[in-house]
Amino acid sequence: MRAAVQTPRGERCPYAKKCGGCQMQNLRYEDQLRWKQAQVQRQIGRFCRVQPILGMENPLHYRCKVQAAFAPVHGRTVSGIYQSSSHILVPVEHCMIEDEGAQRIVADVRRLMPKFRVTPFDEDARRGVLRHVLVRRGWATGQYLAAIVSFTPVFPSKRRFAEALVRLHPELTTVVLNVNRQRTSMVLGSEEHVLYGPGFIEDELCGLRFRISASSFYQVNPPQAERLYRAAIGMAQLTGKESVLDAYCGVGTIGLAASSQAGRVAGVELNPAAARDASGNARRNNVRNARFFAGDAGEFLRDAAAGGEPFDVVLMDPPRAGASREFLEAVCATGPRRVVYISCNPETQARDLRFLTSHGYRAERAQPVDMFPFTHHIENIVSLSRA
Ligand code: SAH
Repeated sequence: MRAAVQTPRGERCPYAKKCGGCQMQNLRYEDQLRWKQAQVQRQIGRFCRVQPILGMENPLHYRCKVQAAFAPVHGRTVSGIYQSSSHILVPVEHCMIEDEGAQRIVADVRRLMPKFRVTPFDEDARRGVLRHVLVRRGWATGQYLAAIVSFTPVFPSKRRFAEALVRLHPELTTVVLNVNRQRTSMVLGSEEHVLYGPGFIEDELCGLRFRISASSFYQVNPPQAERLYRAAIGMAQLTGKESVLDAYCGVGTIGLAASSQAGRVAGVELNPAAARDASGNARRNNVRNARFFAGDAGEFLRDAAAGGEPFDVVLMDPPRAGASREFLEAVCATGPRRVVYISCNPETQARDLRFLTSHGYRAERAQPVDMFPFTHHIENIVSLSRA
């Protein structure tokens, strides 16, 4: 890697060394994009042409989901980020990739704590109250959600605390109290109480409205997610008649965005809560040609084909580990005309492309999209057609 250079606006993160969240902190944005392009070229270039990566015009403060950990340090309350792969809390006031409005809300939670006698949670002594604050912003709607994560359900004057916070931040349309008593690095626990507003915010993506609660699965960089989905749907070359599978569908965003250009859409997702959210999203957006199912993508595709309902197009967006062998075999056995493979790990994507291209598919082109500036994460789409 090249020498340390400042970011486009000439800023440099003062926490970079301690925090470790942004691995590409030392590169100018255009050099980050060049590096990502080269990675995709190296992994995927032997299968097809790689188009220039779609970067962000302004790569700062893009994270619409912000999590801050709280702890007592020498009698004071500190909030910040746990150093990657350690348990050291780095106090962070201004993060370059997090939404600025969300960071102001976190700072005001911290300032309100003494007034309400809310103590930070001490992990070693397992004493104290406030563990984390999670803030989400609806990118298009400007609505904000704050989740106060507490070690105990007994949170001093919780409603008045929420009211005081909303008075400082009228953009907060909902505040929830989440209780997490577990010994875990997970931020959220399973118990939730709504303190203010409806308990969720809404956002708009690809002309559709999505409901987002504290625990919802939702892309953290919505404008780039929209570009990713539009590129993927474009590569699917839909004419309005096709039967489309949205495999590994999360809360159904891609399938719903594709539904107006397809005959019918089925989505499959392992996490039952996300699959339920996907059905709710379909209903609330009056999408009538999409159905969502909870289950394993490979089994679902195999069963659908055995039941005489094969798909013309498969859109797939598996986790970092890539698709299962069973899923890839089911694709090849059922023979969709086109496959559009969205991946957050070009290495496993290359492995899966090796399988698909040696079992009857031809890779046509690749389109990388930068979803996570300043980090080393790479997102890439590849379109394939039946050879
Ligand atoms: N397409 C969605 C989510 C992609 S993340 C979006 O763009 O927002 C990958 C998703 O695959 C996760 O929601 C995860 O729960 C799901 N998943 C993981 N293993 C799976 C499997 N075997 N079958 C179906 N879904 C799976």
